Amino acid sequence: MTANTPVIEVTDLKKHFPVKKGLLRRTVGHVYAVDGVSFSLKAGETLGLVGESGCGKTTAGRAVLRLTEPTSGSIKVEGTEITGLSKAELRPYRRQMQIIFQDPFSSLNPRMTAGEIVGEPLLVHGVSSAKARQEEVAALFARVGLRPAQMANYPHQFSGGQRQRIGIARALALGPKLIVGDEPVSALDVSIQAQVINLLMDLQRERQLSYLFISHNLAVVEHISHQIAVMYLGRIVEHADTRSIFMRPQHPYTEALLSAVPVPDPAIKRQKRVLQGDVPSPMKPPSGCHFHTRCPYAEARCKVETPPLREIAPGHRVSCHLR
Ligand code: SF4
Repeated sequence: MTANTPVIEVTDLKKHFPVKKGLLRRTVGHVYAVDGVSFSLKAGETLGLVGESGCGKTTAGRAVLRLTEPTSGSIKVEGTEITGLSKAELRPYRRQMQIIFQDPFSSLNPRMTAGEIVGEPLLVHGVSSAKARQEEVAALFARVGLRPAQMANYPHQFSGGQRQRIGIARALALGPKLIVGDEPVSALDVSIQAQVINLLMDLQRERQLSYLFISHNLAVVEHISHQIAVMYLGRIVEHADTRSIFMRPQHPYTEALLSAVPVPDPAIKRQKRVLQGDVPSPMKPPSGCHFHTRCPYAEARCKVETPPLREIAPGHRVSCHLR
């Protein structure tokens, strides 16, 4: 591994879920949840993965961590391929990759104290001394803005923002390099969202953490992300640094998502583009460009030819025949 080796490098990742029917549970089709996703992340970098609900971003995040087994593709953690590894072989890599969930309440065991929840990964990964765990958990509590005295409290005794801080402390316990945040602030009030995002950014600076930050909301990912990938029906349709995505969006879907983001400066007017219809079923994605059924610029060839994800400027990739 060299200094430039990405913390995570994902190439052509696919996750297709079989759809089974009838008494014999025959496979009658597939849900193409993730259909050829590629990206890489360096230490201390955040990739925002955005798209409407059902676009496959959560499945992509889970597949990267092998919480759901990918159908195909490559996942390298600091240069080591982890897709073929057995559970035992994967164990050291699991320490390095953690997840923070959207709903901190349902992801925290209500029968465990907050201290036990945060200390559990330490116990599972061999920190057997109760005193050492207690000290480590107290330090994590203090770092995420909770009082160590609150370690004895149960999840229902905390506010939503505090529960997400418990989730972050638990994710930090094993000293990970990559954290996947699956809509980690979506369930929180706007003022609390900013506090949690600022905490994540501080922790990133301190620990050189890499984040895969999954959200349906471009405004949320803007603040924290260095690069943004926009997903539609299992595929990345645009991928660039955050500034380029916001200043010069190239894909019609990105344009539409951005037009819904409020602009703080009243002098700047953005033309609102309302997307027609819902996201089509990932079981029967439209032919050619998956977006053609909702795209205001669609041409005849868009229905038959799949546009490749092409680099149109350094580091800016777009999948559209018109770019
Ligand atoms: Fe729209 Fe065609 Fe571009 Fe797809 S390829 S985004 S349908 S213009």
